[in-house]
Amino acid sequence: MEYYLDSILTTARMKFGITMLKPYQILVIQRILEQEDSAQVRHQLVILPTGTGKSVCFLIPATLCKGITVIVYPLLALMNDQMAKLRKAGISCVCIRGGQTKQQRDEIFARLETGTKIVVTTPESLMGTYVMKRLSGFTISLLVVDEAHVISQWGKGFRPSYLSLTDAVIRLRPHQILAFTATATDRTIRDIRSCLFFSRPLIVKGDIDRPNIIYRSYPTLSRTQAVVELARTCTRPAVVFCRTRGDTERLCIRLLMETHGIPVRFYHAGLTREEREALEKWFMDSADGILLSTSAFGMGVDKKDIRTVIHHRLPASYEEYLQESGRAGRDGNTSDAWVVVTSDDMAAESPYSPVLETFRLPRNGQAETCRRRSILKAMGQEKDECTGCDVCLGERKTGMTAQRQIMKLIHRWPFRFDDTVASFLLCGVKSTRLIHYEDIMNPLFGSVQGWNPKAFSRTLERLSSEASMFPVSSLRYLEPTGSGNGKLLYPSGKSLYNAIASLLRRIDNGYRWIVRKTDFLRRRGKSRGGKKVRKPD
Ligand SMILES: [Zn+2]
Repeated sequence: MEYYLDSILTTARMKFGITMLKPYQILVIQRILEQEDSAQVRHQLVILPTGTGKSVCFLIPATLCKGITVIVYPLLALMNDQMAKLRKAGISCVCIRGGQTKQQRDEIFARLETGTKIVVTTPESLMGTYVMKRLSGFTISLLVVDEAHVISQWGKGFRPSYLSLTDAVIRLRPHQILAFTATATDRTIRDIRSCLFFSRPLIVKGDIDRPNIIYRSYPTLSRTQAVVELARTCTRPAVVFCRTRGDTERLCIRLLMETHGIPVRFYHAGLTREEREALEKWFMDSADGILLSTSAFGMGVDKKDIRTVIHHRLPASYEEYLQESGRAGRDGNTSDAWVVVTSDDMAAESPYSPVLETFRLPRNGQAETCRRRSILKAMGQEKDECTGCDVCLGERKTGMTAQRQIMKLIHRWPFRFDDTVASFLLCGVKSTRLIHYEDIMNPLFGSVQGWNPKAFSRTLERLSSEASMFPVSSLRYLEPTGSGNGKLLYPSGKSLYNAIASLLRRIDNGYRWIVRKTDFLRRRGKSRGGKKVRKPD
């Protein structure tokens, strides 16, 4: 035991410049080295949060074990990153990836015959017939699968090669198999086990909490606007996670238009390899950039100083959320993880992501709970104290930007504005339409800051026709007959005939009268709605 500890610490210091190893790192490494000559091996499944030095746990043993170590990564970017790290440490390694010629592959195997001990690859390249045939001729000490949660996440979908890693285990006969992941639910652990391990592995589970990340919710009327506002104010470098490639591109254009001087780029799997590598390099070196990305980016980057992660839309599971938000603050300094939630997300009938449960505004009368505890609970971990979330810090953003102003405007001046004029007024645009009616003197003129009037007008329109949970949903628009200018705003909940009707509804024999009267008023209301009503009061 002593012997191992010594050589572990020396290797860590001499090769990787690490003077202190954490207890769980030593535990995992020691176990690997102890089992090196043992006939009875217990493979390991290591669950440690991002940014806690997972890779050292297999790179140190890789240099100390006698045979070859094969490390499987899901993304090219991760491979490049690891290769650079190894090269810097002066450790010889080879990379087997797509697009290599037979001659290049032969050179790689020649290097393996002459002392190189580390192979970095993807499951697709590893499962190639020629590669498999040549590799199975070597003694494989360790088969390492990094980011192993993708076996469960992508294996059944677009990366079927992940499931065929079972064949790699059979054919390469590695002495030890190690799976590393940052987060894993019971289902993921089951999937990893059935794919890689034929016997019960040892499970090393670290604390998955990232104490330096502060989880925050950003309720908003418009997702895009929220990202613009956050981009202006957040500490950078920042990553914005979007669901679709189109979203990253659209948002990028919007940010370039509205945030002057902030470098912004987008990244997704639809770009060419060269484009992606250039973007990764740009972001790695960037001190104040913003990168809009799909989940394709997340794992590829070992950028330590990302200060803010923003979720434009939430991923489909808590695991993915932790992976993505965990890109922030890998240097251990305080970082923010924002989640943008809209009024539509808050509707009970649209829980498209389970993670929303943690970040949505509370339903009527419910107290809001700590976001950290809620996330950890979903991952099966209990936590007594929170090291920072907007709820515990009392920094919760309760109202949605501009919401109160919209409500005030509609309630005080119903029928007066269509959404274009309302947006001009609230955003403070000195349009002739406002000057003409002296609305420029309105106390709400310019009361909404930071919005683009066009976007605001679109948001107003969307809110009244679609958003089911926003208070405007109780307000209806009237379609003007004839050649009116767009739609008129009016609060149906407040209208006089509703109040009278609700009173009379209590009188049994008044029922028919109400029906008749309501019909009459509705007809009258419709014909009146077509005209411009300037002063309803
Ligand atoms: Zn908290």
